[in-house]
Amino acid sequence: MPTNKLAELPFNIKDLKGFLAEDEGRALYDAAKKASKIGPCLEIGSYCGKSTVYLGVACKEENNILYAVDHHSGSEEHQPGEEYHDPDLYDERTGLMDSFREFRRVMRLAKLEKNVIPIVSDSSLVASKWTTPLGMVFIDGGHSLSSAMTDFNSWKNYIAVGGILAIHDIFPNPEDGGQAPFTIWKQAIKSGLFKKLSTINSLGLLRRI
Ligand code: SAH
Ligand code: MG
Repeated sequence: MPTNKLAELPFNIKDLKGFLAEDEGRALYDAAKKASKIGPCLEIGSYCGKSTVYLGVACKEENNILYAVDHHSGSEEHQPGEEYHDPDLYDERTGLMDSFREFRRVMRLAKLEKNVIPIVSDSSLVASKWTTPLGMVFIDGGHSLSSAMTDFNSWKNYIAVGGILAIHDIFPNPEDGGQAPFTIWKQAIKSGLFKKLSTINSLGLLRRI
């Protein structure tokens, strides 16, 4: 197997804060390697940079760019008192969640600052004036049905033919988790724009046809 830059990072990706399993990260890396030959990649929901590292290293190896979109104020489940709240990321001065500081620290350590462009904003606002065709879009932002639907509808038309749509947290069984990402995954197939490629753990990969 050819060696890749993931093995050369100065930290163990497993130790980063985040919500991504190792097999899912590897699959994102592999997909982004191929997709960067088509165009730059974009992720929605960077949090502290775990998925960004997998995608960003692949883009760097292919001399391409990853746009990393996140308002960095956290999703509903990250707010104080909620299940996935991390007090380390709470900014006392503003009374808001702020994952951007940790995200920047990780990008600097991973030497990804010349290949990852952070966009600290709401996904649908970023999409509203977007024009660049993309090799890959990874959706891992808000998990309410309206957020997930908005992300899918805002970005689906920017994926170039042959490019990849990746969706995280797909749980066909409602007992395993929220249904919004699974709903947009089904919607993507139903739209006729995408073909199912594979599902790795809770990560769904589709190709723009
Ligand atoms: N991919 C990350 C986990 C993402 S968690 C990892 O690998 O660990 C979901 C993220 O989506 C949060 O950081 C939250 O701030 C962001 N988010 C939620 N709704 C958003 C929106 N409308 N626009 C931009 N970012 C959003
Ligand atoms: Mg997720």
